[in-house]
Amino acid sequence: MNLARFPRRRYIDGPTPIHELKHLSQLLGGPNLFMKRDDLLGLAAGGNKIRKLEFVVAEALAQGADTLITCGAVQSNHCRLTLAAAVREGLKCRLVLEERVPGSYNPKASGNNFLFHLMGVEEIKVVPGGSDMTAQMESVAESLAAAGRKGYIIPGGASTPLGALGYVSCAEEILSQTFDMGLRIDRVICASGSAGTHSGLLVGFWGNNSNIPVTGINVSRTREAQEAIVHDLAGRTAALLGVRETLPRSAVECFGDYVGPGYSLPTSGMVEAVKILARTEAILMDPVYTGKAMAGMIDLIRKGRFQPGENILFVHTGGSPALYAYAEILTD
Ligand SMILES: *Cc1c(COP(=O)(O)O)cnc(C)c1O
Repeated sequence: MNLARFPRRRYIDGPTPIHELKHLSQLLGGPNLFMKRDDLLGLAAGGNKIRKLEFVVAEALAQGADTLITCGAVQSNHCRLTLAAAVREGLKCRLVLEERVPGSYNPKASGNNFLFHLMGVEEIKVVPGGSDMTAQMESVAESLAAAGRKGYIIPGGASTPLGALGYVSCAEEILSQTFDMGLRIDRVICASGSAGTHSGLLVGFWGNNSNIPVTGINVSRTREAQEAIVHDLAGRTAALLGVRETLPRSAVECFGDYVGPGYSLPTSGMVEAVKILARTEAILMDPVYTGKAMAGMIDLIRKGRFQPGENILFVHTGGSPALYAYAEILTD
């Protein structure tokens, strides 16, 4: 696939490492586990949105924007990283935060919220859960326009076909890296949220005929709802790239069993997974995405869903700053 024809900004210095999780594999006594360390990507505190923003911010600059506008939950990693990209580019950034859990917005909260202020966010608008976020961001863009400025709206999670190219590129990075390492990967597992990561990886592996399945662990939706969203975005991403053969619906696999009571709400599996990874591998997961995705992988291994000799690559999509906003429930 020819990704070089899409304008791109550079926030990444090179491939992120693939680490073998020897202690975790031993503890679980199942497949051989590896981790793609996208938590170590450049820009403040790392994470998956950086790969998507490389393409999306390039478009914002091409359109002459002076301000990035985006939205997310109150501890959004995506908002933190959009702001970080804006700072890098000398742009302003305005955020619309959705209070998905009533009463969850605390202007003095730690974690990503602290980083919004530290990096000099221009404006934070908090709206109730279920608000029309597109309309909210459009109204921010209108008020900028009235002041002679130009905003560029980035949809939640930067999960547009253009943003998903970041994970098509990551799939290609994984293929070339594992080839160099002499490592056969049988399955990739990632958290599946706004779906750009999952869809981009699927299209990247599919478009390269790699036959590597991608399993998504949901963080907010049921299996059916999430699979439909991933399949739709994968189709539009493939179309943007000109991939000729359509991705079959059967290639999209999501598990909805690890969401718990809802998005961003703790589960006992998440707490266990965060502690296990910290104590076996000294790797920091996050409470909202990777902690739940890891809880899902651990549970599926315990249930014998994978072959013992399989090599599984878990994509660590970042999010560790949110740990500090959840310290109380993660302390023994
Ligand atoms: C946004 C996010 C995800 C989910 O990625 P999507 O592309 O939105 O599905 C996973 N992990 C972390 C840490 C995130 O911030």
